[in-house]
Amino acid sequence: MSSAQGKLIVLSGPGGVGKSTIVSELKKFDHFYFSVSATTRQPRPGEIDGIAYHFVSDAEFSQMVDSKVFLEWAEFAGAKYGTPKQAVLDALQQGKHVLLEIEIEGARQVKQAMPDAVMVFLQPPSMAELEARITNRGTDTPERIAARLALARQEMAAAGEFDHLLINHQVEEVIQALVSLAAS
Ligand code: 5GP
Repeated sequence: MSSAQGKLIVLSGPGGVGKSTIVSELKKFDHFYFSVSATTRQPRPGEIDGIAYHFVSDAEFSQMVDSKVFLEWAEFAGAKYGTPKQAVLDALQQGKHVLLEIEIEGARQVKQAMPDAVMVFLQPPSMAELEARITNRGTDTPERIAARLALARQEMAAAGEFDHLLINHQVEEVIQALVSLAAS
């Protein structure tokens, strides 16, 4: 048994860039502990409570904020999202690498709270590709698409704050880069 601390890897980037695809592929590797966030948004079809997210009410979320449950939390597209702190600390202490897939405001908070975190920004191959991905998402209304596009453009401007930039050309390449970062 190793007593070394695991690494905290923060994977961020604009909404629609494909972070969740990377995470679901990465789950096939045994290298990481994946934090399960709490959110006030409604489950999408197929999302299971406790696996995709802990789905909570606004009141429950506020209570969790007040009880300092979260390592970070932020609002994104009208819902709140937060990373439960204790599970992350426990996994790191057990020597596991922890992956947080979160938006940019939360990523900034993690860097402040845990300066050793490895900050990774996932970039789209081009702005046009990101816009196409957001626009083609079947479930959103035109207003919501416009809001997501505006937000994504703002989020892209945060790339320079991160230690590592990965371009999402090929899922396998991104996975390899993350596995290497954890091992380095
Ligand atoms: P979605 O609703 O599409 O699952 O996620 C929307 C955004 O929230 C994504 O950018 C995702 O990375 C981010 N997100 C998911 N969990 C958390 C969290 O615990 N904290 C923060 N700050 N963002 C999160």
